[in-house]
Amino acid sequence: MPSEEGQDLIDLTREICAKELAPVVDEAERDAATTPKLPLEAFRVLGRAGLLSLPYPEEFGGAEQPYEVYLQVVEEIASVWMSVAVGVSVHGLTCYPVATFGTDEQKKRLLPDMLSGDQLGAYCLSERSAGSDVAAMTTRAVADDETDPTSYRLKGTKAWISHAGHADFYTSFVRTSDDGGRGLSCLVVPGDAQGLEFGTPEKKMGLHCDTVSEVHFEGVDVAADRLVGERGQGMAIALSALDSGRLGIAAAATGLAQAALDRAVDYAKDRQQFGRPIGDNQGLAFLLADMEAAVTSARASYLHAARLKDAGRPFGKEAAVAKLVATDNAMRVTTDAVQVLGGAGYTQDFPLERYMREAKVTQIFEGTNQIQRLVISRQLLRG
Ligand SMILES: Cc1cc2nc3c(=O)[nH]c(=O)nc-3n(C[C@H](O)[C@H](O)[C@H](O)COP(=O)(O)OP(=O)(O)OC[C@H]3O[C@@H](n4cnc5c(N)ncnc54)[C@H](O)[C@@H]3O)c2cc1C
Repeated sequence: MPSEEGQDLIDLTREICAKELAPVVDEAERDAATTPKLPLEAFRVLGRAGLLSLPYPEEFGGAEQPYEVYLQVVEEIASVWMSVAVGVSVHGLTCYPVATFGTDEQKKRLLPDMLSGDQLGAYCLSERSAGSDVAAMTTRAVADDETDPTSYRLKGTKAWISHAGHADFYTSFVRTSDDGGRGLSCLVVPGDAQGLEFGTPEKKMGLHCDTVSEVHFEGVDVAADRLVGERGQGMAIALSALDSGRLGIAAAATGLAQAALDRAVDYAKDRQQFGRPIGDNQGLAFLLADMEAAVTSARASYLHAARLKDAGRPFGKEAAVAKLVATDNAMRVTTDAVQVLGGAGYTQDFPLERYMREAKVTQIFEGTNQIQRLVISRQLLRG
């Protein structure tokens, strides 16, 4: 159970979402389908309430909350606005490398702004030819002086980057040597750096307010004191960040599935066919029971992994399990929710068809669910 303070934060999130996000989400997502637009005001509202920096140290502007609380906050947001919940999770991911691998000096210099609630980060890992196969990336950072660098010059293109063009900083993974996965490094690139350019936003199936586009590094000079961790440590940093980040996606998928279930239950109680509510038919009631079991088990799996993380124990396999279970369950629950509403579920009069489209991407990003199975099975068979 969360502490009283943790529960207060979860309750506060629910209130803010009901008051500030729920009234605007449907229109914003509909409009963004034709003209992709990041809902910056929604992030400002959450930032002002201190909800963009929950798991990070108070010393640097965070709220020092257990991951368990942070994830329940993400779940609450997702139950109202999935794109924004994904954005909160992505922002959390972008702060992780400095917070975990940065020097004390870097934490003092960089984290207070990153955690201020005013800033939004982007996480630049994927490339067109390096999605699941991160080590295939070609974006390169060349030091001005190999033995004592003062800066790195970045050249290359990242793909699929959430918040591209809007972010205040870009936590970027780049190649600093040709040594495969051991040749990657992590740099935090300022959002106003010269030579940072952006592609046209992708036209996606859903999650329209999570705007995604290419990030071009056209000879971007970044000071060497923005290198996080050692040179060559980039792959380890990226994978470690993703262990935590994919729990954010598991929590968001759970919130989305809960929202779909709630709508389906309301409809099943209300809608009459054959002279009685459709929920009175066991065939439909059992579908709802299976949906409840799927949502509950998704929540239990992300909380289990979060509690291991909060206790300082290994949680990588459990995070992969949670991501796999929560996102596959979200896909099934949102699809079944459309079924419960019949023809109405297939229209834009209800948000269920949008939930179903939004669920799909959770099986793809932050490591596809095939990659989660790879992570889980490798750990099972190791040693
Ligand atoms: C909306 C959205 C937002 C995103 N945001 C970001 C972001 O902010 N930052 C970022 O860096 N990236 C982001 N991504 C990229 C995302 O992480 C990648 O799409 C994802 O990692 C998969 O890479 P890919 O699309 O290149 O697929 P591929 O790697 O080409 O995979 C294609 C298919 O092959 C399967 N496959 C690949 N390798 C294996 C294997 N070894 N075994 C079994 N199956 C395999 C995959 O599971 C998948 O089904 C985003 C993507 C989307 C759609």
